[in-house]
Amino acid sequence: MTVDYIIVGLGLAGIAFAEELKEHKKSFVVYEDNSQNSSLVAGGMYNPVVLKRFTPVWNAKAQLEVAIPFYKKLEINFNEKYIFPVDIYRVFKTIEEQNNWFIASDKLLFQDYMIPEITKNDNANIIAPYDLGKLTNTGRIDVKKLISNYRAFLKEEDSLLQEKFDHHKIEFLDKKIKYNNLLSDRIVFCEGFGIKENKFFSYLPMREAKGELITIHAPDLRVDHLIKSAVFVLPLGDDLYKVGATFNWTDKTKIPTKEGRAELESKLNSVINCNYKIVDHTAGIRPTVKDRRPLVGTHPDYKQLSILNGLGTRGVMIAPLMAKKLFQHIEKGVQLEKEISIDRF
Ligand SMILES: Cc1cc2nc3c(=O)[nH]c(=O)nc-3n(C[C@H](O)[C@H](O)[C@H](O)COP(=O)(O)OP(=O)(O)OC[C@H]3O[C@@H](n4cnc5c(N)ncnc54)[C@H](O)[C@@H]3O)c2cc1C
Repeated sequence: MTVDYIIVGLGLAGIAFAEELKEHKKSFVVYEDNSQNSSLVAGGMYNPVVLKRFTPVWNAKAQLEVAIPFYKKLEINFNEKYIFPVDIYRVFKTIEEQNNWFIASDKLLFQDYMIPEITKNDNANIIAPYDLGKLTNTGRIDVKKLISNYRAFLKEEDSLLQEKFDHHKIEFLDKKIKYNNLLSDRIVFCEGFGIKENKFFSYLPMREAKGELITIHAPDLRVDHLIKSAVFVLPLGDDLYKVGATFNWTDKTKIPTKEGRAELESKLNSVINCNYKIVDHTAGIRPTVKDRRPLVGTHPDYKQLSILNGLGTRGVMIAPLMAKKLFQHIEKGVQLEKEISIDRF
């Protein structure tokens, strides 16, 4: 079998690049094992404001301009809902934070998102003595559902190989790459933390961060927006809420831990005031990079091998734009900006 591209990985990066290939009528197959699951467990939120400091997320405007139409197109193609608008209520910890909110909301970039007035906390089950700052035009992508539908679509097209891709088996022919019985022009690696086992790209400085999340059932909470305080509490419907997330830079497994659960519970108890039951607990590794920028580009020596990785804590917003840039780079020779290109390392 001959294809234009092999994609390794079916998370947000793999799907974004596959969509780029479809749009340009390129043939491809996707390899997927279940070694990584960052996209599957993610909160799936998109939001252009850093909620800790009320500063802009890097390149947020350009990312959102591509990301929202990207998910809308997928909604139409699969006749499914993936985009769920969700306002965010940031719990203020001090008067100073309230003041910083006023100042930030005045910035042109934030005018479509930050509501300048302080929002009174009228829910006795939320602990917010200094009230709340409201963000609008933000939301959640149901990434799990998207991946599940995409997987089914690829299976139908006979374009999915659910097995581990073995980097040692790549044969470099004159103009093509041979992998088992496949001939391809190129391979694009979208492996998330799986990059550590990729002998061609493992030199790149990933500083991965494990994250754990719990899902709670809390019928008395009754909120339809995300609450951001010591943890985020994200409504999923049916009185279910996703609560997260931890950051751990030493544990490299995707196994949920007792410690992670205890940390989330303890923080959650400082955010809400009502009974809840934990109904699920998951973990994944965020593919974060030393300088917090994506890893995009082509291998310096093996020109048929490219990478789309390093989506960090914001894969939902970043993936679609980076996939476009990588495609233009590979097919049209368009130079990548230094801050995203792997040539910076
Ligand atoms: C707890 C948590 C919460 C998060 N919340 C958010 C959020 O609210 N908003 C947001 O935008 N981002 C969030 N993120 C970050 C987001 O999940 C990531 O940026 C994004 O999912 C990374 O996507 P990816 O495709 O690069 O990697 P992954 O989703 O990890 O996908 C990698 C893929 O490669 C496959 N793979 C790897 N190696 C091989 C191999 N050798 N052979 C075959 N297949 C292979 C894996 O099986 C998988 O399919 C969160 C992450 C975590 C962990």
